Amino acid sequence: MDGFRLGSIFGFEIKVDLSWFVILFLIVWSFSGVVFPARYPGQSPGAYFTMGILGALLFFVSLLAHELSHSLVARRKGIPVEGITLFIFGGIARTRTEAETPGDEFVIAGVGPLASMVIAAFFGALWWIGSQAGLSPAVTVVARYLAFLNVALAVFNLLPGFPLDGGRLFRSIVWKVTGNVTTATRWASAGGTALGYALMALGALQLFGGATIGGMWFIFIGWFLRNAAVMSLRQHLARSLLDGVAVRDMMSPDPDVVPPTLTLQELIDTHLLRKRHQAFPVVESGRPVGLVTLQHVKKVSRDAWSSSHVVDVMREVSQLTVGPRDSVTHALERMQDADERRVLVVKEGQLVGILSASDVATWIQRSEELESLRGPSPSLTF
Ligand SMILES: [Zn+2]
Repeated sequence: MDGFRLGSIFGFEIKVDLSWFVILFLIVWSFSGVVFPARYPGQSPGAYFTMGILGALLFFVSLLAHELSHSLVARRKGIPVEGITLFIFGGIARTRTEAETPGDEFVIAGVGPLASMVIAAFFGALWWIGSQAGLSPAVTVVARYLAFLNVALAVFNLLPGFPLDGGRLFRSIVWKVTGNVTTATRWASAGGTALGYALMALGALQLFGGATIGGMWFIFIGWFLRNAAVMSLRQHLARSLLDGVAVRDMMSPDPDVVPPTLTLQELIDTHLLRKRHQAFPVVESGRPVGLVTLQHVKKVSRDAWSSSHVVDVMREVSQLTVGPRDSVTHALERMQDADERRVLVVKEGQLVGILSASDVATWIQRSEELESLRGPSPSLTF
């Protein structure tokens, strides 16, 4: 999920997806148009609107705090966190890998709802003490609804459907009991799928009852949860398929190479148009120095092709190498860091192969097809 960058907190990049504005709009609209006029009558529309904006912004901060708590604990447990994205159904902390132990998973998942409950308690206290102390209803009414929304956030996230926090807690418990993370993920994903269908059924009932907006909303959330549960299981299976697979098992050995002095026109005529590859390692006196791809060439205008050389457009090798014994997972991280779709495999300074993201995707697809021929089994061991 893309989205635009707001900044960073504690080193986590904070992004907002466009869909988040739908929820922002709904909150401002329901607060300033419905909830606040009913609870605090006799004010101007401008006052309600200000309260609505304030309430929505504080809700946004609450949501961010929930995700930050996940991210901070994950980082503490040694899991790299890229950042946080807020979208229509709340937020997600984008992590690179999964927890290594059921205990870690339990703590990382559990801290989010806990954070939301603590925030709810804070706003609840502000509402209660403020009301006793005669604070303006403009403050106490907003505090009351933030307390309510944060409780709702914690409760919804505790539903036992993976990848919701509750589903992750459920997974960590099954993982602990069975000792098998894949079995646990299958169970938790089944929980998420069931929860998704249950929400959709509830939405359908509401639709028949005449509650169109509420019904549509439930169907939408249920559909999203069901898909997320299926996707998360698939991702987990792909990751566990790659477990223990080394780069040398999947790389293309002895790739065609080009010298850095080749002109782009020659590269196009003798390599890009003649061979089936879109990328070539650049080798100078036996040592790999870079990678040149069709994308790199495209950045140069056509009339400069005969005067430009591979060395001018190639990607320096430094970020793009892995060893043949490195794990494929590590190689994928390298590609992600470097924003390239390939890495060079180098052993003792010599180029021994090349590994592309599509090699990995094809390998996973074939393994899955072979697996389905063998019939469903509780764990995938290759
Ligand atoms: Zn959470």
